[in-house]
Amino acid sequence: VYEGALQDLIDELGRLPGVGPKSAQRIAFHLLATDQVDVKRLAAALVRVKDEVRFCATCFNVAEGEQCQICRNPRRSEEVLCVVEEPKDVVAVERTGEFRGRYHVLGGALSALDGVTPERLNVASLLKRARDGVDEVILAVNATVEGQTTAHYLMDALAPMGVKVTRLAHGVPVGGELDYLDEGTLSAAFKARRSL
Ligand SMILES: [Zn+2]
Repeated sequence: VYEGALQDLIDELGRLPGVGPKSAQRIAFHLLATDQVDVKRLAAALVRVKDEVRFCATCFNVAEGEQCQICRNPRRSEEVLCVVEEPKDVVAVERTGEFRGRYHVLGGALSALDGVTPERLNVASLLKRARDGVDEVILAVNATVEGQTTAHYLMDALAPMGVKVTRLAHGVPVGGELDYLDEGTLSAAFKARRSL
């Protein structure tokens, strides 16, 4: 519709999750009207996040070095692993102040529809960690169809290892994503987690 750089920007913005063509156009015109210095800061932040942020070699949380802050912290218990779908879920669980163990970030949830198989998630590394002397694995996946499918898959995979597997209890509404829960609800679900 537009030409050159403006249309390129609208196209790029339109590829972001949750941004439709109308929003893409609105954001593009907003940026066009924004001060040069502010736009440069945004552009620099985009480049920096790709240059500087990595995924932790151990748990796949976001990290600025080889390992994330939590894996580097010797005071965090290595006996309990909390399995979440995305790094944002680590933040949600950390906010409760309820958990002193370590995490494992799957990088998504199983979905036949979207072609997400166990091989495309950080499952093999989870099973390896579980084998290496973990007492409990807490499945803190979302209460969505994909999250529950993933939980069932992991339960079966972890069963032969003799590790205790628990799941978040009541309070997590069906279809609910962890990071939308308030701290009190998530904290209660954590304390009342059930053994499987
Ligand atoms: Zn880590």
